[in-house]
Amino acid sequence: MMTNAAEMDAYLSEPRDLFRGRALCVVKPKDAGEVARVLALCNERGAAIVPQGGNTGLVGGQTPDMGGRQIVLSLQRLDRVREVDPDSDAMTLEAGVTLARAQEVAQSADRYFPLSLASEGSCTIGGNLATNAGGVHVLAYGAARDLALGVEVALADGRILSTLGKLRKDNTGYNLTQLFVGSEGTLGVITAATLKLFPRPRSRAVVFLGLDDPGKALTLLNFMKDHAGPALQAFELVPRIGLEMVLRHMPATRDPLSAPHPWYALIETAGFAEGEAERVATHSFAQAMEAGLTRDATIAHSLEQAQSLWRLRENLSEAQKREGGSIKHDISVPIDRIPAFIAEAGERIAAGFPGARPVPFGHMGDGNLHYNVSQPIGADKAAYLARWDEMSEIVHGLVHEYGGSISAEHGIGRLKRQLLARTKDPAALDVMRALKKTLDPRGVLNPGKLL
Ligand code: ZN
Repeated sequence: MMTNAAEMDAYLSEPRDLFRGRALCVVKPKDAGEVARVLALCNERGAAIVPQGGNTGLVGGQTPDMGGRQIVLSLQRLDRVREVDPDSDAMTLEAGVTLARAQEVAQSADRYFPLSLASEGSCTIGGNLATNAGGVHVLAYGAARDLALGVEVALADGRILSTLGKLRKDNTGYNLTQLFVGSEGTLGVITAATLKLFPRPRSRAVVFLGLDDPGKALTLLNFMKDHAGPALQAFELVPRIGLEMVLRHMPATRDPLSAPHPWYALIETAGFAEGEAERVATHSFAQAMEAGLTRDATIAHSLEQAQSLWRLRENLSEAQKREGGSIKHDISVPIDRIPAFIAEAGERIAAGFPGARPVPFGHMGDGNLHYNVSQPIGADKAAYLARWDEMSEIVHGLVHEYGGSISAEHGIGRLKRQLLARTKDPAALDVMRALKKTLDPRGVLNPGKLL
């Protein structure tokens, strides 16, 4: 247990420094039993618990409030691999295992664990599940939700509930695993999970294509689904303005195409035979070129080249940060509406925020855009960021009109709590509140988050 302010500091703020809190103490139990005992004790005393994994969340779900009475419960010491079973394509890991290590554990059993996101070196399996993390391979494998076979959860009253198990078929009533996945620590604390494993691809290829507009990107996405089928692993959209920011601010980056294009797609394919991914990718993009979907493209011929193409996409957030103030949105709309959404959002922002620069990028294959808007060139950063809510009002209003979601993969946390209350179906909200009341009657589990 830590109570010293300096020691606790790393647990009280988050990477973007949007949220900062104070805490009574930080506790680091070593196993599920200890987590359950901490919960029982806190429940008895009415002390609020803030569960925390790798502390990489982007919506403030893992940060205590400023009151200084909440207890941060770090799951980092629960880092054991309980079982890896390649025959059942399942592994059971404790909550504090990092995502990168989970990928390595799978690989060492000659299997593949597909969840992949920017913070994978430090984010943890427990946090990934509690927030239903997405990332770049949702198109092919689904989000964290789709990868969970079972969870072990410490309940507020100190009991441990387990749905751990390797069964693919278990049709015995309510899906309690999915109740806790995405609950952001408000219904219980995930202490372990059984996760799905997949065959390990033997080859990967990455293609970077120049495009005229998002409409072409949509046609290309459908084209790739037809031509590559399940080999299509990722389909990411990048606007020219975003690429320019990356080239301007990030070292060791270069424009992979000889002439500029208004938009780009980064496509990854995988194959189960040597060279298969590259064959599929080369064939598809040759045909895409013939069909007039793209005028220029480059394919990575080595792991190094593939990584440097991926870096152009992965560095977008950081480059935008270096460019100045950026107002961020993690939204999804039905995939077919992405081109119209980008066009209309751009118009509305131009009207309300002259000079502001939208940089919509991200997981087009999932209908998920990181709709981030950079400040006008030369504008005052603080004055621009002070209008965050006004900007979000425009973007989220349009998301609603398009039948989309105000949080595609980052969750609700503190950041979008009020927005959720305004936008979610009222009956669904009622059921969520009833579940919360049943599982956490004293309101000690991550209060002030999600609901
Ligand atoms: Zn993302």
